Amino acid sequence: MAGKDLSRRGFIRAVGSISAGTLLGVKGAHGQNAPEGTGKGGDARQVPVRPFGKTGVNVSCLSLGGMFDIPSNQLLMRQALRWGVTYWDTADCYEGGKSETGIGQFFEKYPDARKKVFLVTKSDDRDPEGLTRLLNRSLERMKTDYVDLYFIHAMKRISEINEETKTWAEKAKSQGKIKLFGFSTHSSMEDCMLEAAKLGWIDGIMMTYNYRIMNSDKMKRAVEACARAGIGLTAMKTQAGGPFSMESETESRLVETFVKQGFTDKQAKLKAVWEAPEIASICSQMPNLTILMANVGAALNETKLSSEGALLLERYAEETAASYCAGCTQICEAAVGGGAPIGDVLRYLMYSRSYGESGLARMLYGELPLEMRRRLAGLDYTAAERRCPRNLPIARLMSEAATLLA
Ligand code: SF4
Repeated sequence: MAGKDLSRRGFIRAVGSISAGTLLGVKGAHGQNAPEGTGKGGDARQVPVRPFGKTGVNVSCLSLGGMFDIPSNQLLMRQALRWGVTYWDTADCYEGGKSETGIGQFFEKYPDARKKVFLVTKSDDRDPEGLTRLLNRSLERMKTDYVDLYFIHAMKRISEINEETKTWAEKAKSQGKIKLFGFSTHSSMEDCMLEAAKLGWIDGIMMTYNYRIMNSDKMKRAVEACARAGIGLTAMKTQAGGPFSMESETESRLVETFVKQGFTDKQAKLKAVWEAPEIASICSQMPNLTILMANVGAALNETKLSSEGALLLERYAEETAASYCAGCTQICEAAVGGGAPIGDVLRYLMYSRSYGESGLARMLYGELPLEMRRRLAGLDYTAAERRCPRNLPIARLMSEAATLLA
């Protein structure tokens, strides 16, 4: 198996032969690897917890992202709880509201589960009236009186929140409807984080964070500032997929190195993020048991990435840098005069090509007003491409998105 030119396909075959028990590190009564629940030893092992900033709350280091058909996947939710994946993330808009409704169905059926779950949802509105309306709707859908953490969804700049937001959050806390407050961001994350750390009333942030961007000076400063301010951090987009894929000399060596250590490249990318102690949890979309099991296995596996593996991951990130949009939208969007959501469109393209979520990508692209889509089609992206630090072929990708996602 350890041929020098182990291909990605060969690797997937190899991983397919690793048993569920091996991935989970679950031992049967006689020390044999066994799937969860089959050994005589009792309960399944649970993923570790980490402190969520200085909030006094511990959360599971793996969070169940809710962008999937939860009403049809109730068993998966149950299994997540059994493995200790108790941090559940959703949003008012996921699956057109079905994500929250599915969580509500689960809590109705298993009322005791609510106490075990650290429940997060998000608001697409910013103004106090909209926040109140959406929070109340989320509570009703999820059949609960409170959420543990309430996020403003997908912030691009800190000016989207202000003193009014702070007053609203304090009131919602005093009413017992939310316990903690913050925001999620996949655009200009570092600036949002650095500014949030100065505010003193942000409890948590979920941001794009992965092996491609976690070592930049600015991201390191942003993480340190948040940690000092006691803000709990959740990493998302940890697989660092891009709007297109690039060949890399290093990829097969990388995969081979990780296989020798006993985990997949996807698991290794999670482990790279967990090595940062400031990151409380990784939010991952796990729409089926195979992915849930692999991610839980990574969380339970105490083997650290080898220095060779870490170096190869860094080299791979460098070689394929031009295939990854780092969310620094303040650069490219300003270059075309503002108001053109380049980062969003490239993210939708990434959902389609890297996640295989073409339906979701089309839905999100279709939510852009027709006038905006026409404007994007007519824009000259030369200045944006010139300033893009990763040299992305923005014009080509915007055109491909218009064709693929229309
Ligand atoms: S296209 Fe380039 S400048 Fe724009 S967000 Fe992506 S990486 Fe940054």
